[in-house]
Amino acid sequence: MSDSFLVAQIVLSYGTVAKRRANFTKGIQATVLFACKRRCAFCFGLDGDASSKDGQLAHIDRDNSNNSESNAAWLCFKHHNDYDGQPSQGKRLTKGELLRHRKALFVYLKQVQPWTDTHLRTMDRKRKGKTSLEVYNARIPIYKTTVEFLRTVAKDLRPTIQDSLKFARESAHP
Ligand SMILES: [Zn+2]
Repeated sequence: MSDSFLVAQIVLSYGTVAKRRANFTKGIQATVLFACKRRCAFCFGLDGDASSKDGQLAHIDRDNSNNSESNAAWLCFKHHNDYDGQPSQGKRLTKGELLRHRKALFVYLKQVQPWTDTHLRTMDRKRKGKTSLEVYNARIPIYKTTVEFLRTVAKDLRPTIQDSLKFARESAHP
């Protein structure tokens, strides 16, 4: 085998690997990063840790050539390593787990944004002219709950899931 043939082989195979590893497009990265707010699906699902993490976008099906949005999940370095690696003992983290934890994380993130309906409320009020006293009184406990929740968030920047669920429960529409 000549040297030049060998070099050609190496260049060719490197090209194939580079092509296969082409990553998620910038648009897909932005969409997914915004949706998960850099929360790791396994930190959230396994450890109840919903704080943002340094990490990477993982390929859920472990196929680096499948760069569709539905195949992307933000994982911290540790969990990305665990997910893609092959443990010598014990059960490897599964795709089914990741899909379910990611879904639960998205549901959770929707719940903890306190002012999602502010815009709708304003529109509603404009249409009806004013808010009735009855509705206003019913909203006071919601405002109190919200202020309490925001204090918790501001204090340690890491509300527990219990805090968030309590907030979601108590701030449900009257
Ligand atoms: Zn993690």
